Amino acid sequence: MNLDSIRKMNKGELHVHLNGLVSTETIKKIVQSESCEIPKNFDVSVDLNVLRPAQSLVDYLLPWQVLRLIPKNRGNLRIIVESAFENLKADSVSFVEIRNSVIYLASLNNISVDNALFWLIEEIEGASHKYQIRAGLILTVSRGIHTNEHLKILLQAYKNLGFPKCVIGLDLAGNEDIDPPKETAQSFMKAKSEYGLKITIHAGETGNYENIRKAIIEFGADRIGHGTAASKSDEVMGLLKDRDICLEVCPISNRLTKAVGEYEDHPVKIFIANDVPFVICSDNPAIHASSLSFDYYRFLCETNSEQHLKDMYLHQKKYSFLERI
Ligand SMILES: [Zn+2]
Repeated sequence: MNLDSIRKMNKGELHVHLNGLVSTETIKKIVQSESCEIPKNFDVSVDLNVLRPAQSLVDYLLPWQVLRLIPKNRGNLRIIVESAFENLKADSVSFVEIRNSVIYLASLNNISVDNALFWLIEEIEGASHKYQIRAGLILTVSRGIHTNEHLKILLQAYKNLGFPKCVIGLDLAGNEDIDPPKETAQSFMKAKSEYGLKITIHAGETGNYENIRKAIIEFGADRIGHGTAASKSDEVMGLLKDRDICLEVCPISNRLTKAVGEYEDHPVKIFIANDVPFVICSDNPAIHASSLSFDYYRFLCETNSEQHLKDMYLHQKKYSFLERI
């Protein structure tokens, strides 16, 4: 199995952020056309990518200082979404769950969150049709004092738009050392039971396996983003296995954020040994100047297991939040 044969394999993508999937050249063009005010010390020619392990998660997030400044019009949102789908197509991805936090789109464009969500859904559906890739949207909120408030705003927009089918789930992301307001967990649970939205939580990326337990028990997580720290706890791995909760393993991202240290083995080997369900995902491939195929390849280098790659598409289908794929 080589990179070329991997690229041709049918794939599903269950953990990718819209802004991290857009080609860097496209971002540069939009930044220029919108005359964005670039933060001091940000060098657009290099700082839109993370190619070496970052000093910290904050460092890894540097490209978002500029990514969150665009798009300032509908046409550029279309260009962003189309670039994302073009990259998926080149990687033989046949279904995708795209994450986005939407609220920044509303404030950048001076439109309501309802409208921003409507724009994004229309663009995703248009690109899905054009590129023949099944697609769903996962709404992301970040950990912080406003998490619950933002979640409520997004859910209200989802309701106002008549529960669009394109929206398939909710995601909690951001600094795991910050606890969101305590009502947040309940809001996730409520959205799951009332609207049938599925839940994925970024947890255990920065070493804390208790966050994985919390994500499952308190937030009702159906999947866990990264979850690398699960390997440190037999109990948490048992919980994942018993409840059939799938980890979204992102091999390249994990190295670049230092979720997995340079001289450590990737914990996916421990997950394999303990029958913990997982899928391979790419997180922010364009930021890494990479693609899901490179993540497959990295996985192969880490584990030497071709069989897992051969079975991956079935696993991705099984754990996808999309219906009937
Ligand atoms: Zn992520």
